[in-house]
Amino acid sequence: MTADANLDEKRLEKPRPLPTPTTQPFWDGLAAEQVRIQQCLDCDGWVFYPRSRCSHCLGDRLEWRTVSGAGVIFTFSVATQATFPAFADEVPQIIAVVELPEGVHLTTTIVGAEPEAVRVGAPVEPVFDHGDDGLTLLRHRLA
Ligand SMILES: [Zn+2]
Repeated sequence: MTADANLDEKRLEKPRPLPTPTTQPFWDGLAAEQVRIQQCLDCDGWVFYPRSRCSHCLGDRLEWRTVSGAGVIFTFSVATQATFPAFADEVPQIIAVVELPEGVHLTTTIVGAEPEAVRVGAPVEPVFDHGDDGLTLLRHRLA
């Protein structure tokens, strides 16, 4: 195999999240089929994406809480062309922002649904997509 062929193969790999010490509890939760988000011990605010300081009061006393991960579709878009060549097998891809009851928004993909069935405000529930690399991605399906 030539160097160019290696490069082409590399380009077709789907990019995967890279856990950090700050985000590791989120990824560990998904591996255990739990959705974990942070809550501030100072102001009770819910925080997502994972970070080291509260997005409401900048306090640094954040604790991980397990939540249902169910919510409603806040907005969505249907990608009819691959957003990256490696995602061609997922087209049409329903990319959504889901609002959890805790008030945070998370970006996800809606699986197991035809694009025509997806509506803003539709209730969704989490789907845990376990990858071969040990990483689990959070997706959602219509509830
Ligand atoms: Zn806070």
